Amino acid sequence: MRDGVGIGKALLRGLQRKCPCCGKASAFRGYLKVVDACPNCQTPLSLYPTDDGPAYITMILIGHLVIAPAFMFGFFYAYPVQVLVPVLVGSIGLLTLLALPFIKGAFLGLMWYLGLKQAR
Ligand SMILES: [Zn+2]
Repeated sequence: MRDGVGIGKALLRGLQRKCPCCGKASAFRGYLKVVDACPNCQTPLSLYPTDDGPAYITMILIGHLVIAPAFMFGFFYAYPVQVLVPVLVGSIGLLTLLALPFIKGAFLGLMWYLGLKQAR
């Protein structure tokens, strides 16, 4: 528990792109930019490093959700490579861009819960 918030609640608030501490204000001011401090509780959210971790997690997650089914279902082998590659790459790119802000929010929640701030 950190400030009365468990890890599940911190991750869930982050998934909702809210401040992991209070859960009331948005933790982002754009697609991926974390606010300097929460407008509601003043938690300095920009001090928590969310640089590459969310991108790696998103790529691993989306890669497994798209590539693994592609090899499991036989009808994928019926299409020519000229069709399969653009469809797979496009769907991986689109799903990655859709999931990344939410996974970054959850990662911010995890960093906040663990208290892993950047050294200044
Ligand atoms: Zn807050």
